[in-house]
Amino acid sequence: MTDLCIVGAGPAGISIARELDGSGIRICLLESGAADVERRVQRQSRGESDGYPVHLLRRSRVRAFGGTLRHPRVRTGGGWAARALDPVDFEARWGVPDSGWPFDHGYLLPYYERARRVCGLAPRGPADEAWRPVRGSDVEPTLYQLTQVDFSDVHDTLVSSPNVRLLLRCRAVDFTTDPTGRRVETVTAVRADGSKAVVRPRAVVLAAGGIENARLLLTADAGRGLGNEHDVVGRYFAERLALSVGYVVPYGPGSVRDAGFFDRRGDVSGAIRVVDRVQRDKGFLNCAFSLVPRPAAVATTAVGSLSTLHKAMIRRPLVDGFGARVRHVATGLDHVADFALSRVVARPRVLVVRAQGEQAPNRDSRVTLGSRRDDLGIPVARVSWRMADTDIASIATSLGVVDAALRAGRFGFVASTLDRDPATLVEGAHHHLGTTRMHADPRKGVVDADCRVHSVRNLYVTGSSVFPTYGLSNPTLTIVALALRLADHLRGTLGRG
Ligand SMILES: Cc1cc2nc3c(=O)[nH]c(=O)nc-3n(C[C@H](O)[C@H](O)[C@H](O)COP(=O)(O)OP(=O)(O)OC[C@H]3O[C@@H](n4cnc5c(N)ncnc54)[C@H](O)[C@@H]3O)c2cc1C
Repeated sequence: MTDLCIVGAGPAGISIARELDGSGIRICLLESGAADVERRVQRQSRGESDGYPVHLLRRSRVRAFGGTLRHPRVRTGGGWAARALDPVDFEARWGVPDSGWPFDHGYLLPYYERARRVCGLAPRGPADEAWRPVRGSDVEPTLYQLTQVDFSDVHDTLVSSPNVRLLLRCRAVDFTTDPTGRRVETVTAVRADGSKAVVRPRAVVLAAGGIENARLLLTADAGRGLGNEHDVVGRYFAERLALSVGYVVPYGPGSVRDAGFFDRRGDVSGAIRVVDRVQRDKGFLNCAFSLVPRPAAVATTAVGSLSTLHKAMIRRPLVDGFGARVRHVATGLDHVADFALSRVVARPRVLVVRAQGEQAPNRDSRVTLGSRRDDLGIPVARVSWRMADTDIASIATSLGVVDAALRAGRFGFVASTLDRDPATLVEGAHHHLGTTRMHADPRKGVVDADCRVHSVRNLYVTGSSVFPTYGLSNPTLTIVALALRLADHLRGTLGRG
């Protein structure tokens, strides 16, 4: 007998299983990957994209115990960045349709505290966030914390747990319901050798990642789908926008020294953002800016274009204006040469401004099923990522507020590159958000405030797919906070007393 079947052993699924370890609730944790990252399994993460180019899906997700945090870039980058969402992210904002969560930031705070411990984050005081140039203005300094906790160390704990059964290389492929259609009866999984495992749990949690959660709901019940009565599953897909938006011309060498705040210092790095009050008043989307010291030649169009082409080649997406970018490089070879030389001999003279911003919820940006099928004959996920002009316009307006604050603080001024032609390269940050969003109204969300699918009594979804508004922060700390909250809820509903 199984009380709870959890699909996916990434940070979300593992956090629930670990929290309920020893609770007496009989758990089956299904993970499509192995204990370590195996190349062959990653093929299951292939997908299609037909909107704004999203990073290749098989390179944005990892199937292994520990989930996508086992990505090689997380390890080589020295860990992952953690930051809670801001109070404004939970509010319904004027000017941002469909924004807001069913609860406020204060409600999530105790879960954030627990999540911080799970993620190995040291407590920080306000002094850590002080940055002289922007005190007391419309802009505030903020911190990302960096951690190397990738959840893989929980493997042995779960394997020896009295109530958790971990099935690795075992992929959930279908869910059947009872005759009412309002209760999941079975979860069918396929092992690496092709054999099937059928689980009959009292409750199911999908914790398979921001895209896969939607795909599982769309293909469930022999392809009829689950939880999609109002055509919301897969909609509102968002990425976290990452882009260079300009550069700061510092007023003096002191400013470049002050920019050390933005460097990685031990387990933190700094950023600046427009305060919640201004965002509320003006209807801005949330966004953080960091300053990266670079040689002056980086500010030229030729070097910018070269950088974009390089990124397009190694990572995709290949975006508009390819020919124009090549022309810029060809006609600005002297700037490119200056840049190459200045990296070797000169001190940095400008501070490149990098933005990490949120998108507004957009119903037309979505995950559907693709035309290709995977090795088990199941349609792959197709991502139609949409970006609204207003998403970038909001970053531009926030940048104007930052510019005013930096001038007032005698730090420097911002030269924006957002209106360059061809347009600035905007990339996603591999954060897959919103596809099974949380909303009290079943017509506007797939899950309710308890993360339970509106139309299926014993089916829950957790992870970044439930975020109804996205904020600027990297998602995993919030994913873990929500998972711990769901674990408490499940302890209450499934508890074996
Ligand atoms: C390069 C890169 C850098 C990143 N950097 C950061 C960062 O700095 N900060 C941050 O907060 N986030 C970062 N992220 C995002 C972070 O990895 C995710 O937010 C996080 O891993 C999501 O956790 P999850 O448990 O919801 O999903 P995942 O980690 O994706 O785990 C889902 C698990 O479910 C399994 N699964 C899927 N389908 C099935 C199925 N049908 N049956 C069984 N198992 C299944 C998968 O194998 C996987 O192990 C980064 C991601 C990438 C790619």
